[in-house]
Amino acid sequence: MEAVSRVIETPPLGPSRRRYANAAAVLESSLDPPELLDLLQDIESAFGRIRRGARWGARVLDLDIVLWSGGAWAEPRLIVPHPQFRARTFVLAPATQIASDWRDPITGLTLAQLQARLTRADPLA
Ligand code: ATP
Ligand code: MG
Ligand code: MG
Repeated sequence: MEAVSRVIETPPLGPSRRRYANAAAVLESSLDPPELLDLLQDIESAFGRIRRGARWGARVLDLDIVLWSGGAWAEPRLIVPHPQFRARTFVLAPATQIASDWRDPITGLTLAQLQARLTRADPLA
């Protein structure tokens, strides 16, 4: 584990009623992204998460891959960068704490810039 953010509590996205504790970590691994996803899903299962097919249900743990140092990865089961992360404060806020200079290969913006874009008071500015 190279770096770990603080834990930030946020209201749920979608139909779930529980609040979530969000955090980000920078990992160094020799696994490729699909192998890492397998490992993350094993960890989710070990924490008692049961996949029922529905996204966004209440869950004990959700471990997603946001960025990868190798750039982009796209296959049906795994898309990196995570398709939604640019619109999610609960991802960008913790990720910016630990990797503010990391650049999104799709937009060319750093995490700090993406976070500023999302939280700016005037969305048209
Ligand atoms: P969201 O994508 O909105 O964050 P979620 O994390 O709640 O949704 P899950 O039920 O955890 O969705 O995962 C659904 C599927 O998303 C996984 O089985 C996995 O194959 C796929 N997936 C695609 N890209 C990624 C990624 N970057 N990180 C994690 N899972 C991914
Ligand atoms: Mg997930
Ligand atoms: Mg998710």
